[in-house]
Amino acid sequence: MDRTNQNELDKLRRIVLEQDNSAKLLIRRDLELTRANEKLRELDQAKSNFISIVAHQLRTPLSGVKWTLNMVLSDNFGSLTTEQKSFLMKCYESNERMIMLINDMLGADRIDSDKLKYNFVPTQIFDLMDNVLFELTALVKKNKLRVNFINKERTLPRVLMDNEKMRAAVQNLLENAIKYTPEGGEVSIDFQVLDEFLRVSITDTGIGIPDEDQKNIFNRFFRAKNAIKVETDGSGLGLYIAKGIIEKHGGKIWFESKVGKGSIFYFTIPISP
Ligand code: ADP
Repeated sequence: MDRTNQNELDKLRRIVLEQDNSAKLLIRRDLELTRANEKLRELDQAKSNFISIVAHQLRTPLSGVKWTLNMVLSDNFGSLTTEQKSFLMKCYESNERMIMLINDMLGADRIDSDKLKYNFVPTQIFDLMDNVLFELTALVKKNKLRVNFINKERTLPRVLMDNEKMRAAVQNLLENAIKYTPEGGEVSIDFQVLDEFLRVSITDTGIGIPDEDQKNIFNRFFRAKNAIKVETDGSGLGLYIAKGIIEKHGGKIWFESKVGKGSIFYFTIPISP
């Protein structure tokens, strides 16, 4: 073998050795990543268990407080002065907010851990939205808003949905539109058939979402500064939950918004075949 061939052979051996080392390194890295993944899964499970235990433990005493306040406020233990009632009403509302926050935490955790079982049934989503709006009447009145369905008389195709889960998603979206719209504003709901999907849009003339915050809006616990200013309470979990639920239905959610002008939240949901 001449010198050139010998050099080539040495070079080839070095390359093979390097490749061998790289392959070993990759296998080791792969193993490390698998272990790290397992560890993360275990930690995630531990976090889920923790949230679930704490939330359930907190719910019981909070329900007790709610029940007792209800009795006192209904004059079951003698009549109260207007001032006493108004103070107790504040306690009642704070307690309600804590219950709602805990429910949101549980809801978000269930979405994360894929624990929710879905039961898709052909349903008229208009009825669900009308029903949720009815429950929000007090909030609408408080904010002196006009809320209306566009083309109410139109017959809509039924969609494939899990009624209970979709109710939570729709409630979060409608509640936001109402919460973040100043007095005298308007919220309107419309539907449009787009191929095999029904698109629902909820338009408000509210505070809007600042451009720099728009990318974070579906993140857990995120709240834009202008929203915190008008509504101090809020978990920043509603949209995260709504997105998880809508995507589980095979739909999409997105929005368009301008600060000081308003927002439109859209979502799609498959039409029942
Ligand atoms: P929360 O309402 O409890 O803060 P959400 O997850 O429902 O939490 O919403 C996250 C954030 O998205 C809100 O804090 C607010 O900044 C913004 N947002 C959502 N809906 C609207 C809306 N219709 N108008 C203006 N801002 C909105």
